[in-house]
Amino acid sequence: MDQVGQTKVVGRLAPSPTGRMHIGNIYACLAAWLGVRSQGPGGVLRLRIEDIDTPRVVEDADRWIMDDLAWLGLGWDGEAVYQSQRADIYSQALKLLESQQLIGGQPLVYPCFCSRADIRAASAPNEGDGFIVYLGTCRGLSHQTISERLARGQRHSLRIAVPDQSDEPDATCRFDDLIYGPQSFNLPRQVGDVVVRRSDGLVSYQLAVTVDDLATGVNQIVRGRDLLRSTAIQMWIRHHLQPQAPGVQYAHLPLIDGVDGRRMSKRFGSPDLGSLRRDGWSARQVLGVCGWLLGLLQRPRPASAQELLDGFTWNTLAADREDRQLDLSDPNELTVSDVKPSL
Ligand code: GLU
Repeated sequence: MDQVGQTKVVGRLAPSPTGRMHIGNIYACLAAWLGVRSQGPGGVLRLRIEDIDTPRVVEDADRWIMDDLAWLGLGWDGEAVYQSQRADIYSQALKLLESQQLIGGQPLVYPCFCSRADIRAASAPNEGDGFIVYLGTCRGLSHQTISERLARGQRHSLRIAVPDQSDEPDATCRFDDLIYGPQSFNLPRQVGDVVVRRSDGLVSYQLAVTVDDLATGVNQIVRGRDLLRSTAIQMWIRHHLQPQAPGVQYAHLPLIDGVDGRRMSKRFGSPDLGSLRRDGWSARQVLGVCGWLLGLLQRPRPASAQELLDGFTWNTLAADREDRQLDLSDPNELTVSDVKPSL
């Protein structure tokens, strides 16, 4: 609490070091930065390098990201936290979850022996955010079957169980998003039992992020709207790790697609800060485009992060939350068009 009795905002930048940041990543970082810095000197912005998915980590990408954030003037507070150095904390959290049961005796965490192919074959088509609702094949396995398979050393992940019946009182997760408004997700129907430890032994994104947000007192989470469903499962995990934990404000952002209609992504080679900086873009030009995408400027024009703070509110984005398609090919002829969200 600060002197006027308000809880101070603790936000976070959570880049994955899987490559250099593109405009979509910077737009999300800028929004998280504005969300905190608009609260005055009391707000805190943490930096977490999400390098838990080691096979996807690119060497030195953490340093490029920090260098780019500093170049843009998007400063954070304190030392960067690396997920790869927190394995013990995640194992403790997993133990705490493994010690719990759902009403009716279902263990909260159970081993799943399904392969990726099994899961894809048995799932309903997903809704465009890549989220696959697991149909619970391994949820009802007997103790004996589980012990036999484990004794044989069969490869398995661990999943967290959500309530069984869609009409159970805690089966629906609700939250109020600062941009998309009231959200409601039925956990058994729309989310399902998600993986908390992968079959390669790595802790999943869902568990790591929830543990970290709790441990660092984060109370404002800003990220793309493709993670709306992840928020529902993270709230469920959070509730089991720390039932009395204070609430979190969520701001999910419209997605930014490239001219080819595909979401900006490191994988599809969208223009990143490496190429933009090489092509002579200034930090103010990059931020001006991101500020325009956030609805803070009428036209893309050079602006510093500090200038964008002036009059910042989430309401502008809430009033125009269609996904955006951005053409960056000619910086003098920047265009953006709205595309319909697919959720
Ligand atoms: N590391 C994720 C990304 O770079 C962000 C995940 C999150 O905000 O929870 O997209």
